[in-house]
Amino acid sequence: MAVEASLSVELLACSTFHPPADIAWSTDAQDAESLIEFAGRACYETFDKPNPRTATNAAYIRHIMEVGHLALLEHPTATLYIRGISRSATHELVRHRHFSFSQLSQRFVHIDDAQVVVPPMIAADEELLRLFMAAVDETRFTYNELVSALADKLDDEPNALLRKKQARQAARAILPNATESRIVVTGNFRSWRHFIGMRATEHADVEIRQVAVECLKILQEQAPTVFGDFEITQLADGSQMAISPYVTDF
Ligand SMILES: Cc1cc2nc3c(=O)[nH]c(=O)nc-3n(C[C@H](O)[C@H](O)[C@H](O)COP(=O)(O)OP(=O)(O)OC[C@H]3O[C@@H](n4cnc5c(N)ncnc54)[C@H](O)[C@@H]3O)c2cc1C
Repeated sequence: MAVEASLSVELLACSTFHPPADIAWSTDAQDAESLIEFAGRACYETFDKPNPRTATNAAYIRHIMEVGHLALLEHPTATLYIRGISRSATHELVRHRHFSFSQLSQRFVHIDDAQVVVPPMIAADEELLRLFMAAVDETRFTYNELVSALADKLDDEPNALLRKKQARQAARAILPNATESRIVVTGNFRSWRHFIGMRATEHADVEIRQVAVECLKILQEQAPTVFGDFEITQLADGSQMAISPYVTDF
């Protein structure tokens, strides 16, 4: 029986900052946001904070975002581990070219253990859910039949690992888009803002929107000023979306 996967987004890494000991400057923020301010001040050697209106880290970052000096946001990066995401949603995710990805292999990992991501509109209806799960089970059954038939066909191949890989890579062609995947995603803060700006809006598919909102919540903890302009709200169907007045470049 197919098992329903639930979304999990976790922080694996986020930039740390080591200020040069010979520069007389300090700030009032966490690692990633200190790094942004340092990079900005390094452009003009304004470590003495000549402008009192941008003396705090938050005021400095808000200013660079208002004037569009967004290249500074490319210095810090965050790496998130996303599980319980469908292959169709990861296909949307990997369209974002400034991210780096490492995704679960369907050639090496036997899919028998894989769960499925059920679209909320289907999950909310008992009859539709039954239909959906029956189709998944049927596909899974055929997938297993294909894997074992292909493995028999490849009997002459002495390398057992290669035999399994070749069987799985052919059989996976019939796996549903709903098959659960797992993916490590690294991006700089400018790329994360762009991704959230495009995918957390109500125009995006509900699953990738949920992923974008969960990523945003984690990033807001790491960098409250950089991601603080995104406001999370609830739509009529109970799902969440986020929008920023500043993200308009798409
Ligand atoms: C609601 C919605 C519906 C969609 N529907 C479809 C669809 O039907 N079919 C489809 O194919 N895709 C669809 N997409 C995907 C979309 O077309 C993009 O491929 C995806 O959102 C990646 O965003 P991006 O193009 O801004 O690029 P990213 O890779 O995220 O890059 C960020 C920015 O970097 C710059 N950039 C990156 N690469 C280049 C480059 N080569 N040249 C110049 N500038 C560059 C651009 O300014 C770009 O906006 C949809 C996306 C959304 C949000």
